[in-house]
Order: sequence, then structure tokens, then C-alpha cells
Amino acid sequence: MSAAVEGCLFCGIVAGDVPGDIVHSTERTVAFRDVNAQAPTHVLVVPKDHYATAAELAAGDPAASAELVTTAHAVATAEGYDSYRLVLNTGADAGQTVFHTHLHLLAGRSMSWPPG
Ligand code: 5GP
Ligand code: ZN
Repeated sequence: MSAAVEGCLFCGIVAGDVPGDIVHSTERTVAFRDVNAQAPTHVLVVPKDHYATAAELAAGDPAASAELVTTAHAVATAEGYDSYRLVLNTGADAGQTVFHTHLHLLAGRSMSWPPG
């Protein structure tokens, strides 16, 4: 479960094989800017180890799962925001396109609900 997966975009960014605008890293996570930002701050926080979904990560490595949130909070704070949205798209119908789980951190604009 933890080995890098051949062809996985986010394993590639974690390994440094694919360019990424990395803003923060911790023992278990890496945070980098989304290439198609949907807010002034749009950062993806990923576990260094490969897990396809948030539920698989939570079951397999609860500490890394928690660290996604603490890392996102640290990035938001560093960028001057105490109000932000965290999103975990899970499954294609929910909008997940990269199957290495990632927590979206969105901040810097007002947001509406429900999401599209
Ligand atoms: P999902 O739709 O799976 O929840 O989110 C995938 C995110 O990855 C999208 O917001 C998309 O813009 C972002 N993304 C796709 N390709 C790349 C890439 O090569 N580099 C970075 N930094 N983000 C990417
Ligand atoms: Zn991966």
C-alpha cells in the first residue's frame, strides 16, 4: 500500500520526478499548489505513501490521515487565512480524478453552499 505506484501523478510529485510547487512538507505529507487553482489559495495535501482514497488512508494510516488536516491548517495559517474549505473528493462521481488521495485546501474568497 505504501510503495510508490508507477504512473501515479502524485507519487511522482512526492518523489520529485514530476514538477510541483511544493509549499510545505511534514513527516507524512506533502502540500503543493493545484495547477488549476479555484481560489487564491488552492493547495493539495497528499500523503507521501500511496492510498487511492481518503477512506483507505484513514483505515491504513490514521496518523497520516490526521496529518492531512493539520498540514492544511498550517498552510492556511501561513497564507493568512483562518477561514477555509477542505474537500476530499472520493470516487469519480464525486469528482475525484487523481486516485492518490488528496485534501483540497481552498481559501481567499467567499464560498457558497451547496457545492456543484
Ligand atoms: P480531484 O478532481 O481528483 O479531486 O483533484 C485533482 C486535482 O489535481 C485537480 O484540482 C487538478 O487541477 C489537480 N491537478 C491535475 N494535474 C495536476 C498536476 O500535474 N499538478 C498539480 N499540482 N495539480 C494537478
Ligand atoms: Zn500515488
